[in-house]
Amino acid sequence: MNLLNLFNFLRQEIAIDLGTANTLIIQEGEIIVDEPSIVALNRKTGDVVAVGHKAMQMYEKTNENIQTIRPLKDGVIADFQAAEKMIEGLIKMAIQKKRFFSHLKMVICIPSGITEVEKRAVFDSADHVDSKETYLIFEPMAAALGIGLNVEEPVGNMIIDIGGGTTEIAVIALSGIVAEHSIRIAGDELNLDIINYMKNEHNLLIGERTAEKIKIEVGAARKDIENPPEPILINGRDLLTGLPRQKSIGHEEVAEAIDDSIAKIEESVMKTLEKTPPELSSDIYQRGIYLTGGGALLRGLDKRISEKTELKVKVAEDPLRAVVLGTSIALDNTDKFTFLINRKSL
Ligand code: ADP
Ligand code: MG
Repeated sequence: MNLLNLFNFLRQEIAIDLGTANTLIIQEGEIIVDEPSIVALNRKTGDVVAVGHKAMQMYEKTNENIQTIRPLKDGVIADFQAAEKMIEGLIKMAIQKKRFFSHLKMVICIPSGITEVEKRAVFDSADHVDSKETYLIFEPMAAALGIGLNVEEPVGNMIIDIGGGTTEIAVIALSGIVAEHSIRIAGDELNLDIINYMKNEHNLLIGERTAEKIKIEVGAARKDIENPPEPILINGRDLLTGLPRQKSIGHEEVAEAIDDSIAKIEESVMKTLEKTPPELSSDIYQRGIYLTGGGALLRGLDKRISEKTELKVKVAEDPLRAVVLGTSIALDNTDKFTFLINRKSL
């Protein structure tokens, strides 16, 4: 092995999608981490008990010693220490597989509502795992790259990324975000809508996990959809008797439950379109709107947004992975992409 090969062998480059719901890490084109963005801490010592799926299993199960935290829940970092511990824990999952390296380089994708102080906390976490070269990228930009758009062109593209905590709507052209809107109505809020609906309409108490299951298996953004799923049976606690009870639920009820939240997302899309310079609007008119993030998988959402905006709406091929794929493209182009954020630019 010559010296150059040795140097490359010792280099390690990773791209990280730090999402409000899920964190994904890619190395050399392969997804090596795909875990929920959650950390379990020992209440007394503050030590990390688990991160990712393992911590998720502890979520919603109260324990006097263990506390589970989703530090990025609303697209902002509510708990800095927990956030740093989670980020470090998830990155360590990726790099422990290859222990000996001299130069660690990473690009981390962050929700666009994040503040300067919060960006610093993300950089600090990267420093703690010995990253020698760290860049940040905003989520809509990464999403655009991930679905194969050329973000450097003088052409406008509109992206709607519906994640767990936030929906980010952005118009991108010439390597920049020209117009944007970020709202805290996304997957988590839809789950809350479903919980409230079951309580109010059926006197049935269900947990977040059951709401998530309902949303994924029979969720819909409107009643009129193609290939509607069969209703499913779910378990909850009857609020009147206090006893466990089963109930069947179908897509029409879910559409009703989440209608107001979807309307708010539509409103933000309309507002962003109104803020868009006319030349770029005509590009969007020709190209349509792109949907990414887990929320893009909601049945009938594309049709609903398309009817509201009178524009074509396209769902990304793999909406849950578009952002990490885009972040990985950014990692390969750190010398070229001017929109990447490094510590000095803070
Ligand atoms: P983030 O980038 O904020 O981590 P993701 O893009 O990973 O978010 O998307 C996670 C969200 O997508 C969760 O709220 C999850 O419930 C939702 N989701 C995943 N699959 C589906 C589906 N099939 N239908 C509707 N929502 C979904
Ligand atoms: Mg995301």
